[in-house]
Formats: sequence, structure tokens, C-alpha cells
Amino acid sequence: MTAAGLTLAAAPATGRVLQTAPETVLTDTAAAQVGTAAVVPGKSYAFAAVLGGRPVRWDPCRTMHWRSNTRLAPAGALAVLKSAVAQVAAATGTRWVYDGPTTSLPRLAALRTSSTAPQPVLIGWADRASSDLLAGQTARTAGIARTRYLVARSSAGSVAVTRGAVVALNRASRLPLRGASSWQAVATHELAHVMGLAHASAGNQLMSVVLPARVTSLQAGDRAGLARLGRAAGCVPFAG
Ligand SMILES: [Zn+2]
Repeated sequence: MTAAGLTLAAAPATGRVLQTAPETVLTDTAAAQVGTAAVVPGKSYAFAAVLGGRPVRWDPCRTMHWRSNTRLAPAGALAVLKSAVAQVAAATGTRWVYDGPTTSLPRLAALRTSSTAPQPVLIGWADRASSDLLAGQTARTAGIARTRYLVARSSAGSVAVTRGAVVALNRASRLPLRGASSWQAVATHELAHVMGLAHASAGNQLMSVVLPARVTSLQAGDRAGLARLGRAAGCVPFAG
């Protein structure tokens, strides 16, 4: 996270930033820029949070639900979100059901609940005035993802499970729907954060700190990381 923060500080004026900020029960996936860096060697994926040697993730044996708020989005945005969800669903072997549009804004309040049940993932366009996730950000911050996970401790050890996530897409970024540095690339990147990936230190992945300009979908490292967060890694034995 520190390294990503340093990279952000050196961000070129033309870059776009995908950023999350830390909070106690929420995973922090740090900052990324789009489309300006050379490919650099490094780890092809990383997890946002690890507990007891295991990455924190959703229970992939339960159906994932999601909702959208496209009131501030460009026309055609919902199809882009559905495509991004489909990519992440395939890479994780998880089943996703769209619960329809919502007027709820992608704000931190969406995650502040005492419920231990899984929440639908909320993905929506917002701006600095309407979302505290984007407050203080500039148009260069294209998206922010935050997740909420629970930890249960017993004599058998600790088990964590992700139960909520919210993605705020910054309408001020005014990206194209598809292609390089697009809403589709940003939404897919943010949904990989939702599943539990952090930024990859390698420079050639969709989850790279600086997204390569020509990378518009999940790459081999992204997929390897998502596989370890998904159905192939088994269910998460979390009671409640
Ligand atoms: Zn990111």
C-alpha cells in the first residue's frame, strides 16, 4: 500500500487514479493510475487482506448479488457493468445475480451495517458531492472500491469472510464505455478489488498499480489471483 501511495504521489498529470482509502473493517486497495507506465516485472497478483495465511474473500459457494446506480452514468453503462461482472464471475467461478437498479448512492454508509448476512455489491456512478468515497478526489480518480469483512475467532483459528462491497465510479472522469482506460476496464478492476485482490506489482495486469494502456480485460495474473479467491479454492467455512 505504501508503494502504491508513493506511485500515486508521482502520478503524471495525464494519469487517471483508482484509489481506495483504509478503514478498520474495510480492505484498502490503495491507488492506481491508468495508461502511463512501462511494463515492470513483479508479482502478478496480490491479495488485499490475508488472515491466518488465507486471503480474505467472499464465500464463493453462495450466490453473489449486485445492484447498480447508473443515474449519473453515460448511456449504455449498465451493459458495461454486466460485462465486467461476467468477467469476474467467470474468473472466480462464482454465480452473480443482478438485483436491479437502486437509488442508493455508493457511499460508505452502504457498508455500515451490523448485519452478518451478505449484502448485494453496490456499483454506481457518483461525484464528490454525492459520495464520501470520492470526496477530496479529482477527476483523475476514476473509481474506488471498499469492502467489509467479518472475522470469527475460535479455538480452531480465525476465519474471515467478505460480506459487503461498494464501488464508486467517478462521473467526472468521463471515460469511454469500452476500450483502453474505459469504464469497462475500471469497473472490472474495481470488481476484482471487491473479490479481494489488491494491486499487482507487475506492470502488465489489469490490477497493476498503473494500468497498461492496452490492457482492457483480466490478464493471466489477475485470473490466477481471482481463482484463489473463487470457487476453486473451496467454500469459506464461516458460520452466520
Ligand atoms: Zn485499484
